Amino acid sequence: MTKLTLHFIGTGAGAPTHERGAPSLMLIREGERFVFDCGEGTQIAIRKFGLGFRGLKAVFVTHLHGDHVLGIPGLVMTLNLNSHQESLAVFGPKGIKNFLESVFDSTFFEPKFELRVVEIEPTTEPLEVYSGNRFSILTVKAEHTVPSVAYALVEHERPGEFMVERALELGVPKGPLWAKLQRGQSVQVNGKTIHPSQVLGPPRRGRKIVYSGDTRPCEQVLKMGYGADVFVHEATMPDDSMEEAVAGGHSTISEAIRVLKLSGCKVGVLTNFGQKVRKEDLKIVEEFGFLAAFDGLSLDVPLP
Ligand SMILES: [Zn+2]
Repeated sequence: MTKLTLHFIGTGAGAPTHERGAPSLMLIREGERFVFDCGEGTQIAIRKFGLGFRGLKAVFVTHLHGDHVLGIPGLVMTLNLNSHQESLAVFGPKGIKNFLESVFDSTFFEPKFELRVVEIEPTTEPLEVYSGNRFSILTVKAEHTVPSVAYALVEHERPGEFMVERALELGVPKGPLWAKLQRGQSVQVNGKTIHPSQVLGPPRRGRKIVYSGDTRPCEQVLKMGYGADVFVHEATMPDDSMEEAVAGGHSTISEAIRVLKLSGCKVGVLTNFGQKVRKEDLKIVEEFGFLAAFDGLSLDVPLP
């Protein structure tokens, strides 16, 4: 079974505090690591929570506000010091290339490993930006004050369940032929061809993890979150700061809860809490059956 875990590295917004670091989320799937947003202090928090950098494939930033990107230069420089060998990709809206080039030029730094920077055009329909081992990463435009995207990791369909009795009835002996059928290949038994569809149930869906980044509640991000196994939505503002939420392109706690409810997600998590959010503001999150993220929270995401 493919293990997939989500680790909340930083769950604050704006400036990091003692309690909450700047926004960052790490997803680990089959040993491959993907970081979503990379605020200041992300690399320190990654070490603090014992997550490590091995197998780090890509960093996906939702937008260019400092609290979401200022951790990238330090992280890249540390990887360089650690003699990182693999290539690393950084994805983000237009401007991410110029940001990294400027910092690296000004600090006379050049990574010794391959650093691929990919600029994303925010689109209202989901767009595939990364293709991995039996999964894709998609983006969709979020509604913030600067170009911003939400991300989804969507696993490909898995073959259906193997029906042992059916295989035996058809005369396929237990052993390597079963494995072949499970991989979707036809096999020959006593001069007869047995096709995978004869012994496999209907294909099973993979997992879907969605991360909103900074955004007002909006249709396209909600749609991306439909039926997600985990839907992580920002909730920067308490409910009594609606005007500020609108002006800053953020969501209030109750607005974010509403999006999670409408999405029908299995697990809904709120994060990116601004400094105005008090502990008591978060009680409502649990009442609706959702989680309020905290730095160090990790979630195992089982297969559906
Ligand atoms: Zn922002």
